[in-house]
Amino acid sequence: MELWFSEYQSKNVRFSLRIKDMLYSRKTPYQFLSVFETEEMGRIMTLDDVVQLTTRDEFVYHEMISHVPLFTHRSPEKVLVIGGGDGGTIREILKHPVKKVHLVEIDEQVIEASKKFFPSLSLGFSDPRTSIFCEDGIEFVKNNKGYDVIIIDSTDPLGPAVGLFSREFYKDVFNALNNDGIMVAQTESPFFYGDFLKRVYGDISSIFRFTNIYTAVIPTYPGAFWTFTMGSKSIDPTAVDPGELPDLDTKYYSRDIHKSCFVLPPFVKESLILNPRA
Ligand code: SAM
Repeated sequence: MELWFSEYQSKNVRFSLRIKDMLYSRKTPYQFLSVFETEEMGRIMTLDDVVQLTTRDEFVYHEMISHVPLFTHRSPEKVLVIGGGDGGTIREILKHPVKKVHLVEIDEQVIEASKKFFPSLSLGFSDPRTSIFCEDGIEFVKNNKGYDVIIIDSTDPLGPAVGLFSREFYKDVFNALNNDGIMVAQTESPFFYGDFLKRVYGDISSIFRFTNIYTAVIPTYPGAFWTFTMGSKSIDPTAVDPGELPDLDTKYYSRDIHKSCFVLPPFVKESLILNPRA
């Protein structure tokens, strides 16, 4: 008998993966958490039936959400990750000479499942530079400040993550950053969720001096074409010379990708009515 996992990537589009084995399935206080072994994409974690990561393509998302803002800042010492309980983003941040990384994940059971089933992602949890807080990122950011980079590595805008995409939250993120601080958020598929992206872009650009969208190809996320939106208080992301960036051990991110990822196709630009800086 064949076993398949299916995710509604939009109201009318489903994405399915053939399952070898179901390893874990549990209702946490916040969401339904599952881990599967798949035929094609390695091991996967899902939350409320939405793919969070697969061991085959997770490197794209985690490299791009980390290295683009960290290299744009150039000398980040203190970094905050909101969400990101699988640890992939922490793993990438720790490739930089940062001093402190704070992870604020609302659901402790995501962290525990990652330690058990995804050791190649969760290895940074035990690094002495990492501190983990099992709290709501929305409240945490109101009470903690002094970050160089804040990365919002959240689930889709549903359940506890809804507030992580609000203008009030972005204002608190702005206040939690140092004067040259940079934030980045994962901002969904421009193909299926163009209106959402436009709203978030508008909110972030009403608060930060520079707002730039960049993209990456992530096979298991809706549309396989994903956006990240960066807000910067004073550093112009387009002024970074990727030729000056140090080498890093990566599989998707590169100096050339750092430059090209900010180039947006006309259908995205036009749908956003971006300002000339984007
Ligand atoms: N790469 C993933 C994606 O785009 O599908 C995101 C991965 S990570 C597992 C997302 C995490 O955000 C989840 O573990 C979830 O518990 C966490 N999260 C959701 N809302 C949160 C909140 N308000 N505060 C902190 N963490 C939150």
